[in-house]
This record gives sequence, C-alpha cells and structure tokens, in this order.
Amino acid sequence: MAADHRFAVAVGGNRGEVAATLNWAAALLEADGLVRVTIRSSLHRTAAVGGPMGQGDFLNGAWVVTTDFGPHQLLHRLQAVETACGRTRTITWGPRTCDLDLLLAEDGRICASSVLTLPHPRLHLRAFVLAPLAEIAPDWRIPGVGQVSQLAAALAAPLSSPAPVKA
Ligand code: ADP
Ligand code: MG
Repeated sequence: MAADHRFAVAVGGNRGEVAATLNWAAALLEADGLVRVTIRSSLHRTAAVGGPMGQGDFLNGAWVVTTDFGPHQLLHRLQAVETACGRTRTITWGPRTCDLDLLLAEDGRICASSVLTLPHPRLHLRAFVLAPLAEIAPDWRIPGVGQVSQLAAALAAPLSSPAPVKA
C-alpha cells in the first residue's frame, strides 16, 4: 500500500478500561491494512468538559495515522471503529467508551461538509487535545491558526498576573 496522507486523530474515553479499548481501536483501525497508526501519544487524564455533571475523568491522547483514504473515508472508518468499541451516541458530550475525532491533516487541507469539519473546530481551544498532539506532531500547522507546539505551549502557560490597579 502506498500510504501518502498523514492525519492526526484525537482519541479518548471515560467509560470502561479506556487504555485497553484504545489499543483495541488501533488494532481494528489497522485490521485491513488500509490505515496505519504510526505514532501514539501518551494518555492524559483530564476532567470531563461539558456534558452531564458527575461523569468520570477522561483519558485523552492523539495518534498520527497514515493512509491513502481521504478525510471523509477516514472519518467513516473512525466512526465504525467507535461503534465496534461500544460507543453509543445518546447524550451530547456524555460518557463514552471510545471517541475518535479527526483533528488535522498534515498537508493542511480543509473540509467543511455537513459531516466533517477539518481542522476540528475546537482543536486549538482544548489543552487536552493540543497537549497530546504536541507530543507527536509538534511541527504540524493548523491552517489560519498556527503551529501545534506553539498553540499547546500558549494554552498550557499560566495566566499572567493582572496589572496593578491604580488607586
Ligand atoms: P464529539 O466528539 O464532539 O463529542 P461525536 O463524536 O458524537 O461528538 O461527533 C458528532 C458529529 O461531529 C459526528 O456526527 C461527525 O459527523 C461530526 N464531525 C464534524 N467534524 C468532525 C471531525 N473533525 N471529527 C469527528 N467528527 C466530526
Ligand atoms: Mg467525536
């Protein structure tokens, strides 16, 4: 297979044995040899953002995948793997066994269809997505926004102290 395109995928979950589920998801994604998971970040533990109160912490990571698929084909494959890993879509931003989001294409391509927005629209706003992505693709660029490593560093930096207020 001549796998020409590289994409970044956000991976995560907060229900069940997430690390084991993600290993299984990677194996399923690679099963027919048309997608390869070439780099995997570490998994970061983060509190759930949005969604119902009281749901468990997430484990979040990122993968670089290499494939001949276009972005829509890849999204379709990611959604099939989510389903095979027990993902059900009942509550928006609710607990999930396995979430695989398409983040970014290395070549900077953009999609704006009814089913796919690429780059992922919330990618540059979320430290729990950018931090693992910066481990594995620091030099990739988010079109119109900036370089992954710089964006991750900016989000991770503590807020600067407020300027003193004059009496
Ligand atoms: P979320 O990941 O935001 O919690 P879902 O995984 O259920 O929610 O995705 C909701 C919808 O987002 C999907 O039906 C999918 O078509 C759409 N979508 C649009 N752009 C993307 C993207 N870049 N990656 C994944 N899903 C996307
Ligand atoms: Mg998703």
